[in-house]
Amino acid sequence: MILLDGNKLSEIIRKEIAIRVIDFCGKDHRPPHLAAVLVGNNPASQAYVRNKIKACEEVGFASTLIKKPESISQSELLNLIDSINEDPLIDGYIVQLPVPRHIDEVEINLRIDPNKDVDGFHPNNFGRMALGLSSFLPATPMGIMMMLDRYQIPTDGKHCVVLGRSNIVGTPITLLMSKKSKPGNATVTIAHSRTQNLSQITRSADIIIAALGIPYFVKADMVSDGVCIIDVGINRIDDANSSKGYRLVGDVDFENVKHKCSAISPVPGGVGPMTITALLENTWKAFREKK
Ligand code: NDP
Repeated sequence: MILLDGNKLSEIIRKEIAIRVIDFCGKDHRPPHLAAVLVGNNPASQAYVRNKIKACEEVGFASTLIKKPESISQSELLNLIDSINEDPLIDGYIVQLPVPRHIDEVEINLRIDPNKDVDGFHPNNFGRMALGLSSFLPATPMGIMMMLDRYQIPTDGKHCVVLGRSNIVGTPITLLMSKKSKPGNATVTIAHSRTQNLSQITRSADIIIAALGIPYFVKADMVSDGVCIIDVGINRIDDANSSKGYRLVGDVDFENVKHKCSAISPVPGGVGPMTITALLENTWKAFREKK
């Protein structure tokens, strides 16, 4: 069984990015600059943003964290986005999700300059991705594709079952896995909460990409021997033995499923770090394309 180690792979790719920064930027150019907008005090969001900023430092990017209170109004947030869109020193930025309930996430997303949309959520980028044109790919699906590519997991002609159809993971990874490219060329089934006979479908999978947000959902009796599993889920479960009082687990019952797998990504340390690495790659792309 191959452990698809997102930490180790990210370290390798981030070193490659750091070398590009040194080679290209030297003393004549400023480095790429990523900004992150964080609204409110959601502890998980704070941790994600912290990791993104830390990753920027690691590869030599500049970064700016823009913190706003939970009470920010829609128009204040839109004004902030306009000012970031116009800032020539910011190459790419993200608005960390989720935003508070009173904020219209769709309107925020539509206001982001597609050329700075390094999360790849803007419809321009999503549409371009669907058409196979150059775009910023959404960071998590992009990180998964990088993982499959670097670990040379065969996808051509394989049956890939995607669990979940969200706009940020399930739907885009379905498009990417089925496109005519490498990795890609898979025959993809997308499953969701209304899917019937799910175990029958997952047992016929060569590759399972689990993105449901339900801890330990994928059990050993749902998969066949030799399957490759990418576990996207990040779920907090109570753990009295942890100093934080909780620990993070995936959507897959890793300990009982791993023996049946040809390859599997762990949680934590799988797709999570690859998502941040993909964000760095997108920021690099935004920076270079501006140049
Ligand atoms: P969403 O809640 O937006 O989507 C969950 C999907 O799972 C929905 O499409 C839902 O179906 C489907 N689903 C729910 N129950 C079932 C079921 N019993 N059988 C089949 N499908 C089901 O989640 P996200 O896509 O945003 O995130 C999924 C997980 O991935 C979460 O744990 C999240 O934290 C994690 N995540 C991890 C990232 C990383 O960097 N590693 C990045 C982003 C997310 P329906 O559409 O019918 O409701």
